[in-house]
Amino acid sequence: MAAKATTTIRQGMHYQPEHAAWFAANQVLFNQVAAFYFEVMQAHEKILDLGDQDALSALEKLTHATKKNLHPVMPLSSIGKHIPAMFRRAAIHAAMGSARAFSSSLKKWRTRKEKYEAKIPRKGEKKKSFSERPPVPPRSWNKSVSLYAGLWKERSGSSILLKIWTGTCWSWVKVRTFGRDLPDGFEMGSPALVRRGKQWWLHTPIEKTFTSPPKIAAQITKASAKICAIDLNLNEQLAVCTVQTVEGTILATRFIGGGREIAGFRKRQLGQIARNRRKTGIIAENEQDNADLWRKIRNADEHIAHLVSARIVQFAAEQGASILVFEHLGNLQPEKGKYSRRGNTKRAFWMKGRIFNFAKYKAWNRGIITSRVNPRNTSRECYRCHGLIVRYAEGQPVSGYTPGTPLCLCPECQMRGNSDRNASLVIGSRLIEPGCQTRRETIYFSSKARRRQRAWHRAGREASDGNASPIYSYPTTALHRVGATLHLLRMLIMEEWKKPLGFNRSGVSQTKNK
Ligand SMILES: [Zn+2]
Repeated sequence: MAAKATTTIRQGMHYQPEHAAWFAANQVLFNQVAAFYFEVMQAHEKILDLGDQDALSALEKLTHATKKNLHPVMPLSSIGKHIPAMFRRAAIHAAMGSARAFSSSLKKWRTRKEKYEAKIPRKGEKKKSFSERPPVPPRSWNKSVSLYAGLWKERSGSSILLKIWTGTCWSWVKVRTFGRDLPDGFEMGSPALVRRGKQWWLHTPIEKTFTSPPKIAAQITKASAKICAIDLNLNEQLAVCTVQTVEGTILATRFIGGGREIAGFRKRQLGQIARNRRKTGIIAENEQDNADLWRKIRNADEHIAHLVSARIVQFAAEQGASILVFEHLGNLQPEKGKYSRRGNTKRAFWMKGRIFNFAKYKAWNRGIITSRVNPRNTSRECYRCHGLIVRYAEGQPVSGYTPGTPLCLCPECQMRGNSDRNASLVIGSRLIEPGCQTRRETIYFSSKARRRQRAWHRAGREASDGNASPIYSYPTTALHRVGATLHLLRMLIMEEWKKPLGFNRSGVSQTKNK
């Protein structure tokens, strides 16, 4: 079976200053059209039961005037005249992605509500009404414009012509592109115009087809198959990876640190935010305060998640592992303490989720599949005999269980070692051990998930190939981000904490998805 690897190439653009206003006008129109189609779908809910292709035809019939269809029910011409067909279709697909997501979360909410209301309260107890709020449709639209075939031409390594709504007319604009070239062996999708700060970028999704790796059940019947198990932490060791064969021979371990530095960085920013808030008093509703500081935190978190996930996958690939195993992340335990402390733990927890998500697609691009196992007691069990371990720090008495401490001892079999490494071995063994197999879960990078992640449209094909919303949550590589996002402020922010973490560019560059 064929599988696909996808990634996004981000290119910077040189353009005339006035063109920035045109790109903005173009995006505004795109979002008006998308919001319009979202409304149409809300008014005609049945459309969402159709496949993408049929839904597209149905929507066009409802909105687009042709010779056969002179008076559509909800004419698009109310938004704008002479909108190019491919622009319309790209907007329809963006709207469809949002509408499908909204409709499915609404459905799930209704099911939860029904289930709750069907429950019979225990004797003597008064039943509370269902308090969870229903999901709301998007309040604002800010999607990037996906340029389907016909809206761009004459693409070379250093320039491209784009068809843009300038605010007054449709016009071809020539821009120079710089940054990473499109690699060979990939098929190119529709480029998208993406705004980051004040700059506009050209993002191009690219796709490669390869033979899909065998399923986990098939892989672990081979004794020589290698798996890489990862324990993600909130402490200094953000990830501890151990490669073992299916037979249980441990081959290599890698500690990926940097947790303390990022936590310290985050804590300083959160502390600053708290101080600023105290100074300014009450925050106006719907107004993002301290936007710069929040962005700093977000960028740092995302960047670290990319570096750590890239290192995990790189390590697994070096060791010849064909499966990554994580544990389910579970729920965040609320913590007491100051604002900065609570906020920090929350973000560290979210970062674990990001590392998992990024590692999943980076691994897939190298033909490595990802799995998750039951997290129950992974850090309390001994990997060798499954007895309960003693966990302690150096200089502490070797007894009891102190969460977060680095050393462990198994009183049953005298296993001694690092407790995070032990946890990663337990995670690995859960995948292999018979009897545990019902608990594991294979995560495929399904085409559906991919569609949700990015708009996809092959040049020269029907517009229906471009699916869902163009949310580019998948930056190609960390190196590329650093190299390409030449925003001075951003660079400074990165340098600030990158050095002490010991992450360097050469270390990152090996993570390029080949
Ligand atoms: Zn033991």
